[in-house]
Amino acid sequence: MPVNITHVEVANILTRTGGYLRTVASHSLQPYRGCTFGNSLCGVGCYVQHNAWVTRGRPWGGFLEVRTNAADVYRQSHSRESHWARRTRGEFSVFCSSATDPFVPQERQFKITASLLAAMCELPPDLLILQTHTHRITDEIIAIVELSRRCRLRAHISIESDQDRLPGLPPSASPVERRLTACAEFRERGVFTVVTVSPLLPIADPEQFFKRIAEVADAVVIDHFIEGDGSKDGSRTLRTALPAAIAAIDPEATTLAYRDQIVELARSIMPGRVGVSESGFAGIYR
Ligand code: SF4
Repeated sequence: MPVNITHVEVANILTRTGGYLRTVASHSLQPYRGCTFGNSLCGVGCYVQHNAWVTRGRPWGGFLEVRTNAADVYRQSHSRESHWARRTRGEFSVFCSSATDPFVPQERQFKITASLLAAMCELPPDLLILQTHTHRITDEIIAIVELSRRCRLRAHISIESDQDRLPGLPPSASPVERRLTACAEFRERGVFTVVTVSPLLPIADPEQFFKRIAEVADAVVIDHFIEGDGSKDGSRTLRTALPAAIAAIDPEATTLAYRDQIVELARSIMPGRVGVSESGFAGIYR
């Protein structure tokens, strides 16, 4: 699918969180609007495609708005938003990103996330959560390591399964092995690294998968599309092709019982380092 790329200037870049993200961070931050991983595996069930405010009728994965002034707006709003956050939420914490990927392939050209990381090195939040589906996060490893010395920082790398494909669906945007290697690189450099198994997909060899995660990451978060897609019962995801593809491999994997079974296994391998759904994204592990 061709991608329609546009350049926009935004008035705000720090969005005060509500709903699912409220307990996770005081603000969300989107360097881009739209996500060019939308036509890959993660895009099939991606809950953002149901947000008409974001898509405005455009096909998911088919557009990208480049927020050219994101770093300047961050600098301008840092004082106001950090004061508000510390007063009302206890700390100024930023989740980047919940409605795009900060390391879409076009980031190598436009460097919006890179410019934001530089701005944060000057004016850090109290906590930054970098959430991505791709190994391309290593492009900015030097800046991220530097920023991790100035604020609390968690690198969240989504790895939903030990398999790169589900039958009938497109491949993942970033190979599983490369994402695991990226985790290892961040952890070796002292960055708190979390594998987000989100949304949890069928796993061919769960024991081996979590043993590997235990080596390359500090923690893991397990998140099923039920309770994890912003609707109460997974109804957003149920409107997509993802559940049928999951069920073709393992019908039980479409249920919360599967998540609970995987959580139990993960906790036996990584005690004290396993989070679940929303509280896991908020950094609560046991
Ligand atoms: S990377 Fe994230 S925002 Fe982009 S399509 Fe995948 S799940 Fe959606």
